[in-house]
Amino acid sequence: MVDSPPIGDLHFDDAPNVGSVPGPESQELLDKQREIDSSAVAYPEDIPVAFDEGKGATVRDADGNTFIDMFGGIGVLNVGHANPYVLEAVHEQADKLVHTVDFPTEARLELIEKLDEIAPGNLQGNNRVVFGGPTGSDAIEAAIKLAKYNTGGDGLIAFRGAYHGATSGALSLTSNTGAKEHYTPLLSDVVHAPYPNPFEQGKAPDEAVEHALEEVTAIVEDPYGGLANPAGIFVEPIQGEGGVVVPPEGFLAGLREIADENDLPLIFDEIQAGMGRTGEWWAGEHEGVTPDIMTTAKALGGIGFPLSATIYREDLDTWGSGDHAGTYRGHVVAMRAGSRAIEYIQQHDLLAHARDLGANIRARLREIADGNSHLGEVRGRGLFVGAEFVDGDGNPDSDLVDAIQQYCYEHGVLVWTAGRHGNVLRLLPPLVLTDDLADTALDVVADAISHVTTAEQPTA
Ligand code: PMP
Repeated sequence: MVDSPPIGDLHFDDAPNVGSVPGPESQELLDKQREIDSSAVAYPEDIPVAFDEGKGATVRDADGNTFIDMFGGIGVLNVGHANPYVLEAVHEQADKLVHTVDFPTEARLELIEKLDEIAPGNLQGNNRVVFGGPTGSDAIEAAIKLAKYNTGGDGLIAFRGAYHGATSGALSLTSNTGAKEHYTPLLSDVVHAPYPNPFEQGKAPDEAVEHALEEVTAIVEDPYGGLANPAGIFVEPIQGEGGVVVPPEGFLAGLREIADENDLPLIFDEIQAGMGRTGEWWAGEHEGVTPDIMTTAKALGGIGFPLSATIYREDLDTWGSGDHAGTYRGHVVAMRAGSRAIEYIQQHDLLAHARDLGANIRARLREIADGNSHLGEVRGRGLFVGAEFVDGDGNPDSDLVDAIQQYCYEHGVLVWTAGRHGNVLRLLPPLVLTDDLADTALDVVADAISHVTTAEQPTA
């Protein structure tokens, strides 16, 4: 059996190391993609690169340029690209058996047990897991069905700024109207309440929480609130696409109370924030709040295999056989990869590492913010980091963030964006990022910020 190598051994040695980008090989692949691939392709529009090989928190493009990966496939690669401890099990399993619908395999049962081991609060020892389709959206669809089935209701409560996926049910919960307008009507009874975001709302944290909870209470309890048969409250414990928005203390606990008082399931979407990203297994744990149902995907498949799961309290396990169906009810290789990834995180105490390193990264960004009025707020937990940029008038400035992303790319660091105005720099590096790689990456990010804001910085 392969050892579980320390995180320092996982990466290309030379990162960052880039020439002029995109190089000729990347360019050729990008050109060909433009000719034959869908017009819906999006990521290369922001970073024009073709990748060839990844190791740990580093990734190499088709021309041999090596980058530090500070976005990890949007929070997928928590144990790094090609983690050897995970890969060993992947190879073994792929040689033996890949697809079994939902017949039992050791891999399946082992992952269910592993998920129970890391389940939050009173879900531990008191849960069931349903594996539906492979993506996060599939887990959300399962959660919607489960909530409706158990309550007999059909109204769903979600939040402004939320992203829950792109299939019809999940898209109904997603708040971005631009993403929905061509596909309406979606699920009809979905109401979006405000998510507490003190920076954006210009409110004190407790005011923002109070306002949000009042709105949710009104939707659920006011006889003239408009939503007749609520089935559940869907919330990201930290909004990801919405801009790495950490709700102030009291919000999740308040939702828990409202859900309990009204006999509604509280559903946490942990697809982006979960699986150790924030320095706890699940983001809701920072506030000690346990949902009735939660969704996970992204990093669940270990090193990038598509796998999602919906985990729920045992008494909600009321479906009859076949009531939630699909061909891919858990991919055996992905399940092996998921169990190994959980083990790797445990063996190397990557939760503590994520907490410590994330705090250092935020401290460094806050130092920059102290001297730069364009960096409005630094947020996050663990290795889930957001930095919100504004123009000279304090309004959202997505151009600055795009320019920072481009500068970082040209200097060997891959970063991503988020936020309803696209003005949040989002970092979701693999949890195996070392202190040294983080320092180097943050040097580049700091240079980028200073480079793109200097021209318009007379007041700083
Ligand atoms: N929920 C959250 C919180 C997400 O961040 C995402 C993806 N960004 C999804 C759901 C949807 O997952 P997928 O793209 O795998 O369908």
